Amino acid sequence: MKPQNDPSTARHASATADAKLVARDLVLGYRDKRTGKFFTAVKDLNLEIAPKEFIAIVGPSGCGKTTFLTAVAGLNDVGSGRLELDGNAIRGPGHDRSLVFQHASLFPWRNVTANVQFGIECQRRPTAEDRARVAELINLVGLGGKEDKYPRELSGGMSQRVNLARALATDPELILLDEPFASLDAQTREVMQEELVRIWHADHVTSHKTAMFITHDVPEAVFLADRILVFSGSPGHVVASIDVDLPRPRTRETKYTDRFNQLTEEILALVMAQAAI
Ligand code: ADP
Repeated sequence: MKPQNDPSTARHASATADAKLVARDLVLGYRDKRTGKFFTAVKDLNLEIAPKEFIAIVGPSGCGKTTFLTAVAGLNDVGSGRLELDGNAIRGPGHDRSLVFQHASLFPWRNVTANVQFGIECQRRPTAEDRARVAELINLVGLGGKEDKYPRELSGGMSQRVNLARALATDPELILLDEPFASLDAQTREVMQEELVRIWHADHVTSHKTAMFITHDVPEAVFLADRILVFSGSPGHVVASIDVDLPRPRTRETKYTDRFNQLTEEILALVMAQAAI
């Protein structure tokens, strides 16, 4: 399969009106406080993400993936161009977005329930309904019975389960995941990928949200995503948009299919070509 000609919009050419996230001619970077010089990390970035799409972004190290994700989170200024969520320019962080980073960064003095509830507490005094949602999410991520445990008592995989539940608790529109499983051992990582697929499709709790998942692990991207965006070398922009046409629900067996391996090889080749530049 060849990368499509206009990778940013290839699949959703007419979706602009109802796109969840739109980037147009986006430039992002960092200004050196001392010299005032602007370093361009992302340039001419164009993309559209449809509601409920699970997008994975892959690309060479340092190509601006995290810079882009942080800008979507509202934590990074837009240099120029447009970056819009539901048709509105992103000007700062908001309750409509949640972040999941590689390090769970749980509050050590809060137990599992209190950590998952944290985001809600930032918005309001938790209602009975909120508490019920927190309990349901803890069960959903497989931590039923561990509600009273503290972070020091949790493994890396369990901590990331809490992290996921915490991100879902506020019922955000868009979940931004930046290499959430990168620091887990290989086996736990595989389990967490399967768990994320399961959690994602628990519609009654997650209402099948829109997700942007950054990873350097191509098989992980293929396993999880509806569509994969390949970023160029620095400064990053989208060079290819590939639909992942693997049927759902995806299970461990999915990883042993010919189509999975074919897609993985194609996307790896695209990433390697960018890394070589
Ligand atoms: P990726 O996530 O694709 O590995 P990043 O978005 O982390 O890439 O980084 C893109 C570029 O921006 C890199 O050259 C990196 O050194 C630079 N960069 C990232 N964060 C900062 C920062 N806070 N200040 C200055 N430069 C940064």
